[in-house]
Amino acid sequence: METKFENLELKSELLTNLKELKYETMTPIQAQGLPFVLDGRDVIGRAKTGSGKTAAFALGILNSLDTGSQNIHSLVLCPTRELADQVATETRKLARMLKNVKVMTICGGTSEYHQEKSLSHGAHIIVGTPGRVLRLLKKKTLNLSLVNTFVLDEADRMLDMGFHDDIMHIATYLPKVRQTLLFSATYPEDIQKLGEKVQKDAEHVKVDTDHEENTISQMFFELQSHKDKNDAVLKILDKYRPDRFIIFCKTKIITDQVAAFLNKNGIYAGSIHGDLMQNERTVVMTMFANRSLSALVATDVAARGLDIQGLAAVINYDLPSDPEVYVHRVGRTGRAGETGLAFSLYVEQEHGKLDAIEDYSNKNIKIEDISAIEVDSQYDLIPEMKTMYISGGKKDKLRPGDILGALVNEAKLESADVGDINIMNVLSYVAIKEDKIEQAISKLRNGRIKNRRFRVGHA
Ligand code: AMP
Repeated sequence: METKFENLELKSELLTNLKELKYETMTPIQAQGLPFVLDGRDVIGRAKTGSGKTAAFALGILNSLDTGSQNIHSLVLCPTRELADQVATETRKLARMLKNVKVMTICGGTSEYHQEKSLSHGAHIIVGTPGRVLRLLKKKTLNLSLVNTFVLDEADRMLDMGFHDDIMHIATYLPKVRQTLLFSATYPEDIQKLGEKVQKDAEHVKVDTDHEENTISQMFFELQSHKDKNDAVLKILDKYRPDRFIIFCKTKIITDQVAAFLNKNGIYAGSIHGDLMQNERTVVMTMFANRSLSALVATDVAARGLDIQGLAAVINYDLPSDPEVYVHRVGRTGRAGETGLAFSLYVEQEHGKLDAIEDYSNKNIKIEDISAIEVDSQYDLIPEMKTMYISGGKKDKLRPGDILGALVNEAKLESADVGDINIMNVLSYVAIKEDKIEQAISKLRNGRIKNRRFRVGHA
């Protein structure tokens, strides 16, 4: 199988950029899928987030895109806003050397008015969630009648979230003759049916994920009672010391309780679940992604579509009944050749769930003894970064360079002390090295950013 990008019929700007990005060889989904994608064929790709699937479709889109045209060339539908943001970021990264490519996200939870205004200035690639995309189509502020490529990303998650009818409705706004690419981690019957409805003569590409799973060390701990779980988590963290991890819980109430327990014990944790307002969720997600929180405590629904890179561990505080959910959760660690850790807590009555996981994964499960772990009271888990908010954002025309400039020039930080800068509509969040946050806040309180004063403080 061809694994070098150079041997594909890609635009020279794309090839040069791939070299700069140090994408030296194609990942399996790219090696198998890209030749069909570039050929204009419909493809069903069975691969999960982390496999390089975004580039497998985005390179196809960018290769066939005519930047001289003002029409929307492609639509990518994603289950969540977070995934849409990630896909848009990766696509922009791949498009860096092509002039004037406009990638826009159309998702719920942000201003519809701004999206419509931005759309009126033209866009080439739309990455969005089904609900909002359909809304703008119905309002006729989004026109997809000349779309060339339609992508369904994490299609299985979209169906789980009840987006089937929205997707079918959106398809009626697209040209009948088009390329349709469908990516899904799993391939249940409803995905096959969806493919039959929206695709023509699709080529199937399946990535063998075995070697990925082998890099994850999976440990199961049997507890006397559910009440022992909090202490078990502390013991596990103490012994294995993962620096960043997700804890999966069954219910929203449990996520809040576990996060509160961890914070009480000196571990910086945030929880996400369906009851949070979009802005509360954004703060927690931003702080976890920028390394100001060590732990993200989540329900499966809330964690859908998240692609946080470099997770050291996943903890199953509650074991799921469906083994496929277990495999999906555990797949969030050990990415890109790194070793990951997956810990699962369960009580005796849940043995059936273990058997199901064992059957599904075709591997023997090893059970570890929690009482054998000794606790070291010296253990400290302080995240590398802290988050500062600034009371200004896109509406104030703030850009990352303005904030970095103020931190370096006014607050006298080194640029290496500054991490992710996230600019929202009316607020920005900046990750600052833990030992420099006070300096940054006190100096910027009295200083200026882009010649203006803003409120700043701890997020
Ligand atoms: P994805 O599955 O699309 O979310 O991609 C996972 C990560 O792999 C992204 O951070 C990409 O930047 C990276 N990536 C994708 N393709 C390649 C490649 N061929 N070589 C190296 N990194 C890649």
